[in-house]
Amino acid sequence: MRKKYICGNWKMNKTPDEALVFAREINEKNLDDVDILIAAPFVDLDILKKNLNKNIKVAAQNVSEYSDGAYTGEISTTMLKSMEISDVIIGHSERREIYLEDDTTINNKVIHAIGEGLDVILCVGESLKTRENEEHFFHVKNQILEGLSNVEDIDKVTIAYEPIWAIGTGNTCSPEDAEKMCENIRNTIRERYKDAADKIRILYGGSVKPDNAAEILSKDDIDGVLVGGASLKVDDFVKIINYKENL
Ligand code: PEP
Repeated sequence: MRKKYICGNWKMNKTPDEALVFAREINEKNLDDVDILIAAPFVDLDILKKNLNKNIKVAAQNVSEYSDGAYTGEISTTMLKSMEISDVIIGHSERREIYLEDDTTINNKVIHAIGEGLDVILCVGESLKTRENEEHFFHVKNQILEGLSNVEDIDKVTIAYEPIWAIGTGNTCSPEDAEKMCENIRNTIRERYKDAADKIRILYGGSVKPDNAAEILSKDDIDGVLVGGASLKVDDFVKIINYKENL
């Protein structure tokens, strides 16, 4: 049985002071027994790590594929580990679209991060045009195969399916369509990694809110959610964590 995984992605929001306020507030809440993670800007990682209750993991939103050296503006796995950060999001659609990270770069990052002992949330998802052309299953399968090329240690990987047209737009993929894609992703993992497909967690992301989380999370092949906007407010994020109250 895969434990549900509720992950927040703050993107480029919250100063360290604001992160501290969030940590103090959420620490006071009763949270259901799910796995919880917050992916925060680099400058917030230390304060969150030191102040959040230990049942909430802290992750980075990106990491360099290089160990160290002349890479201005980048952050290394060693730097993350020095702050006891052991999780990182790789391949978010905003990194792919705005910063032009391609599958090769993303694969290099995944290999490097796992080699350094980090757990990775690998994001995949199609554009509206790709879905309208009915190429979304093929597109996402390719992103998985290329993102995980030469990756052996699949236990270190969580997949987040995030259709680009549903991120930050208020347009959610229907729970049925999200489930269909997550099932396809699991089948792709099974082709290569056999029984590990039953263990890997596959998340859905894209305009998840307190009022749609329960329906999405009740699907068998959706093992959790990656939440952007609604993870910024403690009350909304807690309602998503405690989604069972709305079942
Ligand atoms: C995200 O940041 O990964 C995301 C899914 O954002 P939102 O929930 O705001 O659509």
